[in-house]
Amino acid sequence: MRIFISMRSGLRHLCPHCNALSSIKGYSSHCYKTSSFSGMRSEVCIRVPQLFCPHCRRYPTARCPLVVFNHTYTKLLKLDTLSLLSEETVSAASSGCGIGKDTVFDILDNAVEEGLENQDLSKVHTLFIDEIQSTHGHNYITMVADQDHRMIAGVEGHDIGSVRKVCEWLESKGGDPKNITYVSADMSVAYKSGVSECFPKAKIIIDHFHLTKSVNEALDYVRKRTNRELRKKELEYPKNVKYTVLHREANQSDVHKERMEQIRMLNPDLALAFDLKEEFCRIFDRPDKKAARSAFFSWYNHVRGSHIPEMIDVSRRLMKRLNDILRWFSHRISNGVAEGLNNSYKKIKSAAYGYRKVENLIDMCLFRKGQLKVSI
Ligand SMILES: [Zn+2]
Repeated sequence: MRIFISMRSGLRHLCPHCNALSSIKGYSSHCYKTSSFSGMRSEVCIRVPQLFCPHCRRYPTARCPLVVFNHTYTKLLKLDTLSLLSEETVSAASSGCGIGKDTVFDILDNAVEEGLENQDLSKVHTLFIDEIQSTHGHNYITMVADQDHRMIAGVEGHDIGSVRKVCEWLESKGGDPKNITYVSADMSVAYKSGVSECFPKAKIIIDHFHLTKSVNEALDYVRKRTNRELRKKELEYPKNVKYTVLHREANQSDVHKERMEQIRMLNPDLALAFDLKEEFCRIFDRPDKKAARSAFFSWYNHVRGSHIPEMIDVSRRLMKRLNDILRWFSHRISNGVAEGLNNSYKKIKSAAYGYRKVENLIDMCLFRKGQLKVSI
């Protein structure tokens, strides 16, 4: 559907470059995408005045109050698209507004850029750094949130260079790297070196979510390997137990409890690895750092005695970072927050599924979690 509109004559037009009162030299017709009208793809065609500015002596096109300046869509479409995007997927926004996905991303990109212009990072003192895999291939994105769980930046990569980019961004938005006192991150060594280089006063805390994730990964490798070995020997092995072992024992349903008994009978190595995982998780129930440290050492010795290579490997990596792990007991900042953020990013990733550009995913995350101010 095409709607024709002409701008009321007699309006005063200001030069978009210098705001000086300008005169109309003629008109030219422009078509802009707008919100779907009666379910049909729609556009408005507007006769827009062509101006002459006596101050800067240019011939600009007048600003039209209906449309987003320098873009090919209306403010109404921007509003509709953004309100859909705050809850729905990119595909849903695309079909809901009767526009192509490229236009959806254009609107999103424009809104995020506008929001970032006014971003103020001067009060940031704690960072939550996490990585997610982009929708395609093996690209990683480093996502950063602050103490208010507001996402403040997303940069490509998950190495020391990514931390440097975050630091530059922080500085460009009024933040001071020396104000950063705590950084919550995963076990990545690259992040650790990046943080100590860029944020001289920051201490790293490895959050529970990422610790449990590492131990669970090891446990999952044990499950795959041991079941494979049993199958090769044509012995019975416990099936469908991936989530049985990944759940905490306290949260296991009756079905999982039954399967756990099967595991104990058929695959004692996996049962032992599960018990070690449980023991690891209980370290954080200890009242203080001292008790936790001795619980960790006792866990470490149990792992060594288990002769399960996957668990020994992860325990060694954890031992190297023990101080960063135990720091949580002095500064209990990150419990649950990192996990919540990680879940949001994943949810957003699925809402933006199938998009080629990493920037689109970052935009979507900033739009949903960045508390940006966007004008309509
Ligand atoms: Zn001018």
